[in-house]
Amino acid sequence: MQAFEAVNHYFDQAAVLLDLSDNMRTLMITPDRELRVEVAIEMDSGQIGNFIGYRVQHDNARGPFKGGLRFHPHVDQDEARSLASLMTWKTAVVNLPFGGGKGGMNCDPNKLSRGELERVTRKFVQQIHDFIGPDKDIPAPDVGTDAQVMAWVMNEYSKYHGFQPACVTGKPVEYHGSEGREAATGYGVMIVAREILKRLGKEIRGTTFAIQGYGNVGSNTARYLAEAGGVITAISDAYGAVVNPRGLDIKALDAHVAIDRKVVGFPGGEPATNEQLLTQPVDVLIPAALGGVFDAETAKQVRAHLIIEAANSPTWPEADEVFRTREIPVVPDILVNAGGVIVSYFEWVQNQQHFRWPLDRIQREEETTMVESFNKIYELATRKGIPLRTAAFMIGISRVGRARVLGGI
Ligand code: GLU
Repeated sequence: MQAFEAVNHYFDQAAVLLDLSDNMRTLMITPDRELRVEVAIEMDSGQIGNFIGYRVQHDNARGPFKGGLRFHPHVDQDEARSLASLMTWKTAVVNLPFGGGKGGMNCDPNKLSRGELERVTRKFVQQIHDFIGPDKDIPAPDVGTDAQVMAWVMNEYSKYHGFQPACVTGKPVEYHGSEGREAATGYGVMIVAREILKRLGKEIRGTTFAIQGYGNVGSNTARYLAEAGGVITAISDAYGAVVNPRGLDIKALDAHVAIDRKVVGFPGGEPATNEQLLTQPVDVLIPAALGGVFDAETAKQVRAHLIIEAANSPTWPEADEVFRTREIPVVPDILVNAGGVIVSYFEWVQNQQHFRWPLDRIQREEETTMVESFNKIYELATRKGIPLRTAAFMIGISRVGRARVLGGI
């Protein structure tokens, strides 16, 4: 099964319960537009570097297309399509006035110099600038891109279209970005963890967590959970894992990662493999890296009692089925990691109004949006006796469907 098929599988589980017609189904799952562009630059060596960039614009019934740009060697058309579709349901589930899009480039940013990274980013924007913009399609950071890359996107876009800071979100605070955007996804993950644990009669304090991934999302999630009294016993990144059953000292780990750029070698824990991370005997397992982490086999070996999907698409449908049979609740990606796009929305609003919000307002409004969305999903799932993912998709699909019908097909 491919990534886009997997998203559509989840879509269909909800569509059946919503009694969606076949034609409406086709209308809603088919992307509006797909761009595939050549991004050729001069490498530092003087050679030509050839890369392929993608931007999939999935649905804009509820507002401009919105979603990140991923720079990673796995990026291809199918992955961009699946992630664009997820963005449509994500923005709808947290009720932002946006549609869904996603893009990226097939490259390994770790192997590019800073100059090469800047050149591929600017060239990519040159190739797609007519199709993006504040009221059309608004990119943002994702795996392999960050605030600096977004600054280059804005700067390059402005050469063609004038000063338009709202053309991209996730920019540096000093360059038209928003307070709280960088840590927004991790902050939202913590809020969702708090809310689901509350419903299960527990709290973050004293609960044990294993986190797969220590990039922007994983590291901020760990920090917020630790601040709330959570015990993070295992963390991994692309190179391996560290485990400490008494809880890792997150501040000390951050100091170690700032120097070594990886968690392995951290003296406050024992080294472990990525596979061992997924089978830790913890209360909560949080995938916060790439997609496709859980297949049927890994799902059988998981020993956590709750999964909180901070990454996009970490669970293949067959694994989802295993978790369901094993009665391990899965809180779905389209809710859990929506904090990023929620604060992207606040950044876009601030840019449009040329007005700045302080951090406490950002966090308060993000929290309200996350809690309201969580409650709606949880209550629907409980009332109908369905998984949280199916409930989330039902809410997202209903909102997009309604906008499609009201606007006229
Ligand atoms: N890339 C993030 C996501 O998958 C953020 C998207 C955005 O802020 O537009 O949700």
